[in-house]
Amino acid sequence: MKPIVYVTRTIPEVAVNLLRNYCEVIYRNELVPPSKEEIIENIRNVDAIYCTLNEKMDREVIDSSPKLKVIGTMSVGVDHIDIDYATKRGVYVVHTPGVLTETTADLAFGLMLATARRIVEGDRMIREGRWKLAWAPTMMLGHDVYGKTLGIIGLGRIGAALARRAKGFNMKICYYDVVRRPDIEKELGIEYLELEELLKVSDFISIHVPLTAETRHLISEKELRLMKPTAILVNTSRGPVVDEKALLKALKEGWIAGAGLDVFEEEPLPHDHPFIDLPNVVLTPHIGSASHDTRNRMAEYAAEGIIKVLRGEEPDNLYNREVVKIRPLHSIRMI
Ligand code: NAP
Repeated sequence: MKPIVYVTRTIPEVAVNLLRNYCEVIYRNELVPPSKEEIIENIRNVDAIYCTLNEKMDREVIDSSPKLKVIGTMSVGVDHIDIDYATKRGVYVVHTPGVLTETTADLAFGLMLATARRIVEGDRMIREGRWKLAWAPTMMLGHDVYGKTLGIIGLGRIGAALARRAKGFNMKICYYDVVRRPDIEKELGIEYLELEELLKVSDFISIHVPLTAETRHLISEKELRLMKPTAILVNTSRGPVVDEKALLKALKEGWIAGAGLDVFEEEPLPHDHPFIDLPNVVLTPHIGSASHDTRNRMAEYAAEGIIKVLRGEEPDNLYNREVVKIRPLHSIRMI
């Protein structure tokens, strides 16, 4: 009998086809994510769940699927999954590390440029018929990027990819992380700083940590007040890493110059959110990994991970490696 996989919502076709080669697929082909009740209703008899970051895989969900062996998420972040509980229950979690690194770093760099050089504001000015003077010595002045100091918070895959881009802009780069990365320090000639010091010296600060209990509101009023009044904050990690109320105050009162944000505490960002009225903020709708090639590769990689687990093999995108001790892979083999 083939293993059963529940796919929570529309994903690139390449992954659905791959899963269908090995599994019976319950494919909920809808763009909107399902409610928790709908998920619970559909996973009572499945061996695997294929989800995205919008579906919470909490204790209640995991417990409602007694035969569940693996959760595959089409994201590198796993903050929507109760990892400890999944591990305890012997449920493997596979995600998509690496394949979205360069695409997300491109967006982070794009947000730095767009915010510093007021690209979106300029576009709006033209479209709204407000471009009255052909050229004026003091019109639409922004901040230089080339040669400035970039502070990276979280020098993992995406943080390091951003650093490589910044080298091409002759930027001075520093980083803060829970662990030192001497290999990358040496490769790129970058400096480790404690968070407070990084915040004080950087012209651009880009956040690349996962969302965890430790990183929730890592950037709050105290941290924002340490930044330069000319600093620009970029967040392409997860919304709750930044205390949005404090950021709003910082942007309104000029503690910092601007922000480029791809992620928010509440997504989609409510239409009446005060960020929308601020000219010094560039907003994108959580599109860090949203390129054709990368989304296809992410979709495929999560499916490959699920298939590997169901074959009793260890996938290279397994997140909770300790699970192997709780439920050995050979006991899973179904394909
Ligand atoms: P990664 O390689 O795991 O990098 C994260 C880095 O942050 C690691 O070096 C990690 O150290 C460090 N870190 C963890 N906790 C920290 C803390 N409390 N303080 C300082 N540093 C800490 O992950 P990645 O692939 O670069 O992705 C980073 C995050 O970006 C993801 O978790 C995801 O939430 C987000 N993301 C967003 C988009 C988007 O669409 N906007 C796309 C892709 C990813 P350790 O390795 O020692 O834990």
